[in-house]
Amino acid sequence: MNQTLTGRLAPSPTGAQHIGNARTFLIAWLSIRSRGGKLILRIEDIDSPRVKQWAIDQAIEDLTWLGLDWDEGPDRPGHHSPYLQTERTSGYRSMIEELKSQEMVYPCTCSRSDVLAAASAPHELHSKGKSSLADAPIYPKRCAYRSAGRIDQIATPFSWRYRTSTHSIQFHDQVFGLQKTIPAVTLGDFVVGKSDGSTSYQLAVVHDDHDMEVTEVLRGDDLIPSTFRQLDIYQFLGWKPPQFVHVPLVVGEDGRRLAKRHGDTRLSFLRENQVSPLKLIGWLAASCGWLDRPMEIAAADLLPLFNLDVIPRKPAVFDAQALDFLQGP
Ligand code: GLU
Ligand code: ZN
Repeated sequence: MNQTLTGRLAPSPTGAQHIGNARTFLIAWLSIRSRGGKLILRIEDIDSPRVKQWAIDQAIEDLTWLGLDWDEGPDRPGHHSPYLQTERTSGYRSMIEELKSQEMVYPCTCSRSDVLAAASAPHELHSKGKSSLADAPIYPKRCAYRSAGRIDQIATPFSWRYRTSTHSIQFHDQVFGLQKTIPAVTLGDFVVGKSDGSTSYQLAVVHDDHDMEVTEVLRGDDLIPSTFRQLDIYQFLGWKPPQFVHVPLVVGEDGRRLAKRHGDTRLSFLRENQVSPLKLIGWLAASCGWLDRPMEIAAADLLPLFNLDVIPRKPAVFDAQALDFLQGP
């Protein structure tokens, strides 16, 4: 079967999109468009308490302002509709049922504080110390003896945890090279179904990327641990995974990930303050090594300059000089 090169832009409408998100979206868009592939806009709203229409509209406006486009999305439905994760939950439920029937998930009654307490207990520090990969406490497997088929005796609320692989999982990242880990050791069993019946990001994203026939997932390098979790699920289900590409994030002058303390870097704020999107694109392009210095340029004009190999392997720093460039004449 001939697979169409397909990428996706997957904003979470939990907060406003900022300069860091813009950089990842720009690179993802260029990677696909420079090779004539198609793009899907998917709104990852399952973690929001309810659908925030304004945030969805704002994400669409932000992307449009940047000069990015897509072939399918909530505003232009196509083959892979619907595009809001909150409208795709029946697919997630059948996936969990499948994992249950194969005993690949187990009911976990531990609360968040149980997990934290157990993970920081002295005997756990050792296994924790083995890995710099884990982005969350490693679950100590307290409930791993439980069976998915025997939940009738459980009186307390429980979540569904995925039994991570005890063998090595690897992938070739086009920016970071060969990535390899043993998920059971470095990441631990993770939640795929929450106690309130909702689905976790890890499961929803695998379901959707597979279902939407996505062939390239390009996102921030903070998600490398999640990529291993997701590959673990792909392998168990025998699904062909997409190509994964991770790119460094944008940080402030203090080296910390861009946040409120670095001033207002929301795209909507820049837009309202008449900052030219061409300037932002130019600054981002220079940060990716495609221009010698920031200048006004449109996203589409970067298509011939796009090159993953020259993107610095360290975070891009949004500093006072960058702000001056954006706000200057
Ligand atoms: N929705 C996620 C975010 O905005 C992206 C997840 C992904 O690309 O897999 O951070
Ligand atoms: Zn548990």
